[in-house]
Amino acid sequence: MKKGLLIILSGPSGVGKGTVRKYIMNRELFPMVFSVSMTTREPRATETNGVEYYFVSKEEFQKNIDNDNFLEWAEFVGNRYGTPRSIVEDLRNQGKNVLLEIEINGAEQVLSKVKDDRVVSFYLKPPSMKQLEARIRKRKSETEEVIQKRLAKAEAEMEKAKNYDFVIMNDRINRAGDEIIKILKEFDRD
Ligand code: 5GP
Repeated sequence: MKKGLLIILSGPSGVGKGTVRKYIMNRELFPMVFSVSMTTREPRATETNGVEYYFVSKEEFQKNIDNDNFLEWAEFVGNRYGTPRSIVEDLRNQGKNVLLEIEINGAEQVLSKVKDDRVVSFYLKPPSMKQLEARIRKRKSETEEVIQKRLAKAEAEMEKAKNYDFVIMNDRINRAGDEIIKILKEFDRD
């Protein structure tokens, strides 16, 4: 049995990773399982524990770091986010494709640690910084200070795109999502 793909979907905060991820998963044109991360961030009104994230305390997160339970983890604007290692490995060993939707530091850790040829990485980029700002503001979930921090970080992150297998522009969700699905199908055919 072929090992499942490890699909990395990264890019600046607010670029629409979550929306594109939901789109490609809902299309059901390429089978994959979403890796639910652990975070110390407070849940947003629309979020459910165990669906978008496992929401945990700072202490519990630290315990998982100490026990080396994360494939990668990163601090992002004051909160911590991490990918549970054993879940990802078990699913891939069962032949399931696993999608990680993670920020750039975490993606770099995965790219440097996981060296098998069944890893495929996507960098989702916004059509412009103006659009990115508009998207973050539309979400209405962050304070002005947090918005400014996220934007500053996004600008610095833009130049990391070259480390990825594919750079996808999120001009329209359907177009970007369909492009990713097409690439995955081609990649898995080899
Ligand atoms: P948000 O607070 O908007 O849900 O997420 C903030 C950032 O953390 C987003 O860019 C999101 O993709 C990223 N993120 C979510 N889960 C993980 C994870 O497990 N590891 C890393 N490194 N980043 C994550």
